[in-house]
Amino acid sequence: MKKIAIYGKGGIGKSTTVSNISAAYSEENKKVMVVGCDPKADTTRTLCGRRLPTILDTIKNNKNPDVNNVLFKGFGNVLCVESGGPEPGVGCAGRGVIVAMDLIEKKGVFTDNNLDIVIYDVLGDVVCGGFAVPLREEFADEVFIVTSGEYMSLYAANNISKGIKKLKGNLSGIICNCKGIDNETAIVRDFAEMIGSSVIGIIPRDETVQKSEIEAKTVIEKYPNSNQSEEYRKLAKNILNNSSSGVPEPLNDDEFEELFLNLSNCI
Ligand code: ADP
Ligand code: SF4
Ligand code: MG
Repeated sequence: MKKIAIYGKGGIGKSTTVSNISAAYSEENKKVMVVGCDPKADTTRTLCGRRLPTILDTIKNNKNPDVNNVLFKGFGNVLCVESGGPEPGVGCAGRGVIVAMDLIEKKGVFTDNNLDIVIYDVLGDVVCGGFAVPLREEFADEVFIVTSGEYMSLYAANNISKGIKKLKGNLSGIICNCKGIDNETAIVRDFAEMIGSSVIGIIPRDETVQKSEIEAKTVIEKYPNSNQSEEYRKLAKNILNNSSSGVPEPLNDDEFEELFLNLSNCI
């Protein structure tokens, strides 16, 4: 069983990427589970056609819920769970992920379902101990970072690499989810190389994403024959076949600034 975590800045396209590659795996008859670890709890919406009740909300009313109250089947029988999070302003979101993971582990979800791949969708704006849970607790053993070529997104990617290095985790690749800026793929490739990694997939910016999202569907479900669906399938394959990963070498703040200034001079 391959266990991967997808990190990246909020709003960069993690959930969109996770749900679409999961849909792509289901087309290949792979058994997939998606674990949404973002308090936003919207990773699985396009797989299930609705927002799922979160584990944290469910256990507020029932400390020992039935597995069917927290685990749901989405498109292509992808198994979906959302950890959820505390109310804004109170509690610790990272702690919430631990509680949620403990529950589904106790319910035998990981062992009973003959899974080929488990994908964690994790935030990356805050790289505190809490958000590093899937990696720190060894729920996931490979990490991929989603970024565009924008400054803040790369800054977050570099910060996440620092967290991975600290935890002696492995970075398995960078996913470039394009925002459509000039020289974007070159910028992301240069960054990946500088931190000792590589770009494992490039997802174009495309209107099919929003059009599918409005109907709470993945692009793979709504536009199976589109170019965008093909790009998600390609990425899914690259991730599944990937065997190279290593401890990243993140840039310090000065190096990061320098990299960015050099890159922007090239545009
Ligand atoms: P995250 O999970 O990182 O917070 P989301 O996956 O929710 O980000 O994406 C944020 C927004 O960006 C969504 O509205 C989504 O439709 C849009 N988006 C993501 N990837 C693409 C893309 N490749 N092309 C067009 N829009 C995209
Ligand atoms: Fe918990 Fe980290 Fe969020 Fe603080 S920032 S509440 S430690 S997850
Ligand atoms: Mg998300």
